Amino acid sequence: MPPLKPASVASAILHCRCPRCHEGDLFVHPGHYHLSGLLDMPDTCPVCGRDIQIEPGFYLGAMWISYPIVMVLLIVSLLVSYLVFRLDLLVSFGIALALLLVLLPLILRYSRVLFLYLFARD
Ligand SMILES: [Zn+2]
Repeated sequence: MPPLKPASVASAILHCRCPRCHEGDLFVHPGHYHLSGLLDMPDTCPVCGRDIQIEPGFYLGAMWISYPIVMVLLIVSLLVSYLVFRLDLLVSFGIALALLLVLLPLILRYSRVLFLYLFARD
């Protein structure tokens, strides 16, 4: 059997896969809304054995990825609901916070994945 063609980097990021082999899952639970254990990651890639837990506290740096994502999301949501749809400011804040709450698991996971790809890519 020929070796599998590795998926592209964008596809691997989208599917939260290992930065080396692009096949191993980076999270223990594959569903993004599995809230208990949302950020549980194996110590090593289950396929190639690459170290995923780089060092203690490594993923604290992912907040530098999630912070701008949250800010852009909040600002765009506020501008659209307040200026385009002309909703009340309080309602606009409520919509922005609700949107953030719904997307928070995705933001947390993808900020970790992007941080890993940016700073610990093979
Ligand atoms: Zn791997």
